[in-house]
Amino acid sequence: MNASRVYNFAAGPSVLPLSVLERAGSEITNYRGSGMSVMEMSHRSKVFMDIFQETQNKLRRLMNVPQDYHILFLQTGASGQFSMIPLNLIGKTGTADYAVTGNFSGLACKEARKYGQISLACDTADRNHSYIPRQEALKRNPDASYFYYCANNTIYGTEWDYTPETGGVPLVCDMSSNILSMPVDVSKFGLIYAGAQKNMAPAGLTVVIIKEGLQGHELPYTPLMMNYKTMIDKDSMYNTPPCWCIYMLGLMLDWVEENGGPAGMEKRKRQRAGMLYDVLDSSRLFTGHAEKDSRSGMNVTFRTASEELDAKFVQEAAQAGFVNLKGHRMTGGMRASIYNAMPVEGVERLCDFIRAFEKAN
Ligand SMILES: *Cc1c(COP(=O)(O)O)cnc(C)c1O
Repeated sequence: MNASRVYNFAAGPSVLPLSVLERAGSEITNYRGSGMSVMEMSHRSKVFMDIFQETQNKLRRLMNVPQDYHILFLQTGASGQFSMIPLNLIGKTGTADYAVTGNFSGLACKEARKYGQISLACDTADRNHSYIPRQEALKRNPDASYFYYCANNTIYGTEWDYTPETGGVPLVCDMSSNILSMPVDVSKFGLIYAGAQKNMAPAGLTVVIIKEGLQGHELPYTPLMMNYKTMIDKDSMYNTPPCWCIYMLGLMLDWVEENGGPAGMEKRKRQRAGMLYDVLDSSRLFTGHAEKDSRSGMNVTFRTASEELDAKFVQEAAQAGFVNLKGHRMTGGMRASIYNAMPVEGVERLCDFIRAFEKAN
């Protein structure tokens, strides 16, 4: 590891593999003999179109995306999908089911209420979003246009360990903070989306994977740029796509592939999270936020009994080279975001630091 680099536990934008950054660096002024940077290229040039196509193909291959699904590279931000999804999909029956298990699904649900009748499949606010409901507890409406959920709750540190069964209602999933962290059966979903800045690339790119036929139910006032059909018909090139981020995603996907693909990512994910939760479970000083059977493998939320001690922990950790461990203001305490690019060694070192801090306090 580059000696001046820190272990960055930021929730997003977040750590990228050093080799990916170095490769981007080596190509930054002259991309493979083109004489220019990817940042300077026409998005319609052959050289960029090749980057675009290869990146799309790599993602399709790595996630095993069936041929009847479109892969879109958009600029909406994950939050833009909170509007785009109901605008395009709710028109089918006028209703949708939302499973609210944290901040982002709550915001998505609130936004969707503008466009149709929303039923709550669950709302875990009753226990401060510390758990994921079991399948039997989900309230489902068979007439829903879609069933919406967020696979990993970045702020609260909970993660669904199963794919909800919806009996034919298309499943829509926000995978912003756990995409590519494990194999996923895409064919179970109608639509998967993710802001790239957690697990995939720099901020500025939103990946949407949508099943053919789901588009075409847009409400009449749906903005042109928020219509999936516009972007499907133009292969995400109705206007200028986020070229640099797409290139970076391509480099990141090469790295994921070299490291065993989604199955390799899942192995590391279990290693990293297992180590951290073991340390928390054997601690007298720290407690985790999430209930044990709902713990996230990507965002580990924990705290001491005192806010002063939490602050001291965050500060001393930063001095020791473990940065961005302060929890989100909604949960307080600490949060270690341990995405794909976080080396297992970074978590080992953090565990050592946690143990030493406990001893000293
Ligand atoms: C970060 C995050 C978002 C919001 O992403 P933006 O790209 O900033 O809009 C939405 N959902 C989840 C699960 C996230 O982690």
